Amino acid sequence: MEKTLVILKPSAIQRALIGEVIKRFEQKGLQLSGIKMIQLDNSILNEHYAHLADRPFFKRIKDSMMISPVIVTCWKGKDAVRVVRSMTGSTNSREAVPGTIRGDFSMSMQENIVHTSDSVENAKEELARFFKEGEIFDYSSALTPFTYSNDEI
Ligand code: ADP
Repeated sequence: MEKTLVILKPSAIQRALIGEVIKRFEQKGLQLSGIKMIQLDNSILNEHYAHLADRPFFKRIKDSMMISPVIVTCWKGKDAVRVVRSMTGSTNSREAVPGTIRGDFSMSMQENIVHTSDSVENAKEELARFFKEGEIFDYSSALTPFTYSNDEI
């Protein structure tokens, strides 16, 4: 089963949306495999947002991600990366489709509630960046036979 990273950004923490966001992934049938609150710093954000280093808003987005702690979570499931990404919605929340997290909870391009990994390769890299050994758990769930058919597991 695939694993993917979701970061509840300071916009989620400050707007008291932690429960609402986590509830959506639980209700979908994804399994929570790791969760912790951390304070991000400039060095980890330089790595995480390296693909945005030459954009004019680079410092602004890093400052925004350090304004309060964030919650990093790992979710496991079949096609978890694609499923979580589709639940996230467009980067610009004003264009994000209703029903998505950004579409329902945000009005902003920058303050858009969650970061979610955009590919299987990036999910692996990002999970290794934010979680230490022993912080991601594989455990069996009594709900699995009612979440997937045998041939999907
Ligand atoms: P996504 O988070 O949808 O994968 P990106 O990786 O392109 O999007 O960008 C990372 C984050 O940087 C976005 O979630 C958003 O918070 C911020 N961002 C992206 N583009 C802009 C922009 N033009 N202005 C302000 N912030 C931006």
